[in-house]
Amino acid sequence: MVKAFSYGLGTYDVAKLLEENKVDYLGVANTYEGIELRKAGIKLPIMVMKPELDSFDLVVKHNLTPTIFSLHALKTLINTLNNSIPITISLKIDTGMHRLGFDEGEILTLIDLLKAHPFIVIESIYSHLAATDESKHNEFTTQQIEVFKNISNSISKEFDYYIERHILNSNGIINFNNAQMDMVRLGIGLYGVSSDDNSQKKLKSASTLKSKIAQIKCIKKGDNIGYNRLGIAHENLTIATIPVGYADGLSRSLGNGNWEMIINNKKASIVGNVCMDMVMIDVTNIKCQEGDEAFIFSDENPITEMAKRIGTIPYEILTSYSPRVLRVFKY
Ligand SMILES: *Cc1c(COP(=O)(O)O)cnc(C)c1O
Repeated sequence: MVKAFSYGLGTYDVAKLLEENKVDYLGVANTYEGIELRKAGIKLPIMVMKPELDSFDLVVKHNLTPTIFSLHALKTLINTLNNSIPITISLKIDTGMHRLGFDEGEILTLIDLLKAHPFIVIESIYSHLAATDESKHNEFTTQQIEVFKNISNSISKEFDYYIERHILNSNGIINFNNAQMDMVRLGIGLYGVSSDDNSQKKLKSASTLKSKIAQIKCIKKGDNIGYNRLGIAHENLTIATIPVGYADGLSRSLGNGNWEMIINNKKASIVGNVCMDMVMIDVTNIKCQEGDEAFIFSDENPITEMAKRIGTIPYEILTSYSPRVLRVFKY
């Protein structure tokens, strides 16, 4: 899954690396993400999970595989194609997530429509699991998998060609590996991150975010630091200004002591509010100089912990880093 700028890390570079390493398929959220990859020269099959209904002509033009998730979407596709151009599609079944996909009651109509338009070929049928990262929902997940097997069988047996099936996301791959079927849709795990502590132990994060100290200042006891004077020197302080702010994706909720960067292997707490382009950290007890590296997140201060501090999930942290942050790939 390389949707959302490859979970914030950079779609083209990640897609290219995956292509070189012979993955079978890429997945994106919308048509335009798929087109970007085609324009950049990616040749792998690309599944679009939620194609805009007015973009089917572009889907065909750029050789993308649209997910068809409703009768309305299928009818729109049929009208766009005008009964001529052959196309392969994926079908999405709703097995309990209740986001996108066909309900059980629509399957007969779906089959009839597809049989009436044989130029549409079903490449795969898939569904999405709602809670693979929480074992308290295991029974629900197992039930989703069962419903999926039944519905996908009832569709497959109506067609005389093989249709692939897939249901697992990253935590599903770890926790329900008996449901791998023909493919899995590896997302955040590819980037070495999990929202689940146990899974995280088995992974190594693929990214770090670092910057450099722009300036170091000595602050007298009683003085204030940053906007709204919220950072207060309760004693003499040495602070370092780091040129990363909320416009880069560093959440303002991490300000005022709620996050520590790593400088020369020591933890330096954020002082005062996070600004748009900068943030100040307390380096009073750290030997450092201007130009030294500051790790915003790394193995020592991981995004899984950052997510907990501000009540969100690592997915949101990763995908929040803006295009302004330079992505450097090493492999
Ligand atoms: C994002 C997404 C995935 C990947 O999920 P991860 O939890 O990141 O592995 C898989 N399937 C669908 C339909 C998705 O939207």
